[in-house]
Amino acid sequence: MKQDTYISDSKSKLSKFNELFSSLKAHFFLAIFLTGLACCLTMHVLIFNDYEERAVAVRISEMQTQLRLLSNRLIKYNYLQDTDDPVINAEIDYLSNFNNGRVIIINDDLNVIKDTYEISNGKFIVSEETVNCLKTGTRGTFSKFDKKYGAIELVVPIVETKNAEGEDVTYEDDTEVVRGAILLCISMDPIRRSLTKLSRRIAVYEGVIIFTIICIAYMLAQKLMKPFDKITTDINEVKAGYTEDSIEVPTLTEARHIAIAFNSLLRRMKVLDDSRQEFVSNVSHELRTPITSMKVLADSLLSMGEDAPIEMYRDFMEDIGKEVDRENQIIGDLLTLVKMDKKSPELDIKSVKIENLIEGVLKRIKPIAMQRDIELIFESRRTVTAEVDEVKISQVITNLVENGVKYNKDGGSVKVILDADHQFFTVKVMDTGVGIPEDSLEHVFERFYRVDKSRSREIGGTGLGLAIARSAVLMHRGTIEVDSKLGEGTTFTVKIPLIIATEK
Ligand code: ADP
Repeated sequence: MKQDTYISDSKSKLSKFNELFSSLKAHFFLAIFLTGLACCLTMHVLIFNDYEERAVAVRISEMQTQLRLLSNRLIKYNYLQDTDDPVINAEIDYLSNFNNGRVIIINDDLNVIKDTYEISNGKFIVSEETVNCLKTGTRGTFSKFDKKYGAIELVVPIVETKNAEGEDVTYEDDTEVVRGAILLCISMDPIRRSLTKLSRRIAVYEGVIIFTIICIAYMLAQKLMKPFDKITTDINEVKAGYTEDSIEVPTLTEARHIAIAFNSLLRRMKVLDDSRQEFVSNVSHELRTPITSMKVLADSLLSMGEDAPIEMYRDFMEDIGKEVDRENQIIGDLLTLVKMDKKSPELDIKSVKIENLIEGVLKRIKPIAMQRDIELIFESRRTVTAEVDEVKISQVITNLVENGVKYNKDGGSVKVILDADHQFFTVKVMDTGVGIPEDSLEHVFERFYRVDKSRSREIGGTGLGLAIARSAVLMHRGTIEVDSKLGEGTTFTVKIPLIIATEK
């Protein structure tokens, strides 16, 4: 039991951790922080390298000056011939000790005459730099910075200058004679020490900068994500049912798009909810009407008692029977609509000869039309075979022709015209009936909408016929339109593709 609690606890911690790190806020924070850190580190490396290069260059230049001065003094005191001069030796030792380095002096035979480490005295040094230095004189000055061993190496020629009279001078404009070279190798330690100090100081500044970046990144992430948090809170309130109002639209573009999209979704849902409520109340009303009539008829019969004549019983029972039929028809129509409203309604597509289909419909309606002396005319301008659901298309034509008869004048006519092009077939149902007022035209396809409620009920209408017809046409990806002139007649035009393009 304890182990279960532990497992679920650690799972919830893990999911919280995951949620935190997959949040846009964390990503944004990390992006700013890492960019800042990368900039800091790059600056650090660049400053460090630049400082090192400059420090080495300054040191080399200082040492070259000192070695040139020493070279002049070596010539002046004839050190290359007599290495026992205590003043010069002291100067050389001082130069070596003060710079924590090694000084080697060689003569023009590449022979070491002085080594402050006293290792190479009397030996020959044949390196590229020294040979080059002896050959080229002042131009042979050589310096090298060995990063790996932390040392600077310098080679400076010992130059004797003679004027035209052959006197020894130290001015550069006279003839140069290279008498030897001074080799100096000094340690980088002082530079390294100041570099370490600099590095520490930079690290402190970096710490301050990184802390500032963290604060700025956190504040920016909070500020930018605030509108999204607000949207989430608002949406949750709508979801919980505390409010149905549109949510506040923030100024941040991305958040504004989400809020606008959500508000339009909310409006759509409200419209759907309203129409659902209206539909339910319409259904209740429509279903209750025949029941109320039956109750009234039954109560009247009961109140009359046994004295009521048998003809009256028969009349009343016939009326009750009609009301039952009406109730039945409403329920049937409602079921048809519900089936068509399904998200993926099924169509039983077959190749159908539309002429035959229309003729069949007209044949069925003819007896009713004849009762009121209404003529049914069929005009087929083209033979049409289409891929359709026969039952549904037949229901569409039946509803339209029945309406043409129902809302017609005695002795009028209903004309059905069938035509087609290479893509669609068209069925026009034209009647010479009462017509539909202009302001009702856009509503006739709505469920339970009737222009004249009492007349429609009287003639057995449910107010669902055109809604069913429209649904069936839309299922075939077709269109249905109505045109009417009050008192003159109405024309319904149905246009349906010969072949329904099936979605992949
Ligand atoms: P109903 O069962 O009442 O006929 P419909 O959905 O078929 O229901 O038609 C809706 C309303 O449209 C009818 O009540 C009627 O007022 C009007 N209507 C439909 N067809 C015609 C027509 N051919 N001529 C005049 N009015 C019509």
